[in-house]
Amino acid sequence: MDFQLRRNRLAARLPELEVDAFLVTRLPNVRYLTGFTGSNGQVVLTASPSTTVFLTDGRYTEQSRREVPDLKRATYAADFAGAFAEACRDAGVARVGFESAGVTYRFYEDLRDKAEGIELVPTRDEVEGLRWAKEAEEIRMIDRAQAITDEAFERILPKLVEGVTEREAALELEWSMRQAGAEGLSFDSIVAFGESAAEPHHHPTDRPLARGDVVKMDFGALFQGYHADMTRTVAFGEPPEDLRKIHEIVARAQQAGIDAVRAGITGREADAAARQVIADAGYGDRFSHSLGHGVGLEIHEGPTLRVPSEDVLPVGAVVTVEPGVYVSGLGGVRIEDMVEVTEDGCRVIPRSTREFVVL
Ligand code: ZN
Ligand code: ZN
Repeated sequence: MDFQLRRNRLAARLPELEVDAFLVTRLPNVRYLTGFTGSNGQVVLTASPSTTVFLTDGRYTEQSRREVPDLKRATYAADFAGAFAEACRDAGVARVGFESAGVTYRFYEDLRDKAEGIELVPTRDEVEGLRWAKEAEEIRMIDRAQAITDEAFERILPKLVEGVTEREAALELEWSMRQAGAEGLSFDSIVAFGESAAEPHHHPTDRPLARGDVVKMDFGALFQGYHADMTRTVAFGEPPEDLRKIHEIVARAQQAGIDAVRAGITGREADAAARQVIADAGYGDRFSHSLGHGVGLEIHEGPTLRVPSEDVLPVGAVVTVEPGVYVSGLGGVRIEDMVEVTEDGCRVIPRSTREFVVL
């Protein structure tokens, strides 16, 4: 990964933001710009690589020496504001942009009170915006995270037997993903049986699996900091006729969403293409969430695929297409795949079947 190139891109934004430097505090952004994987690190980025500083605390002095060898580094004990002020003084900067989504009010007050002579300018989504379009190496990481996720899907199917609980199935998914090389989970797996599938984000319980249940599983592996996100809804035994019909509608809606995704369209347009199919089938009010979101160093990032979103999809963005229909008391179906946006369409990343699997 060419971290300096990424930092140059952010540095090029400084004049337009009318600041001399940029304070990066959101960890996924720090990782994106430096490669640092620890839990506390900040970057004071200036127009010049020689005065850009990476800041962390004593726990990460060694790790940052290894992971961020190409930047000036400073370690502080408890006084981040002091270290920040010193970095600014050394670099001769006075007006500094900060990430309004990356600081608490208290942190801001501390900086304002202790970093004397430094003017703080709030900014939004500057690094996040750079992260939308993935580089080839990032795509490889996401592909790998998805391959692990696909493997877990294959391995869970024979384990879905009468009496297994949602919690046990979720644990099985986690075990499979970790065994296949995941460094962790993208998020806590969602496993929902039968009527529980009517909740889009159901938390697994001790409910046992019974014949006629649908099984909705939303899960993903984490690999080298990159996330995967996939949902499959299968049936254990013959499902109720209504859910068969709903699966068919959701599958068509997802295909319409996938067909709509290409570079240059807005998130709103992609969402509308899928939503229309569901509305035409009479389930418009049962699709209660957005069509999708970007995935990368964070499980939910931009661009966003939803009705008011004017986010324009760039080539290389990785977004989910995940329509769902949820009917209280009956159950629900969601089908979710990550796709890579290309010039004239998109590439569906998972290899897991999107057919309605009946076990
Ligand atoms: Zn998901
Ligand atoms: Zn998702």
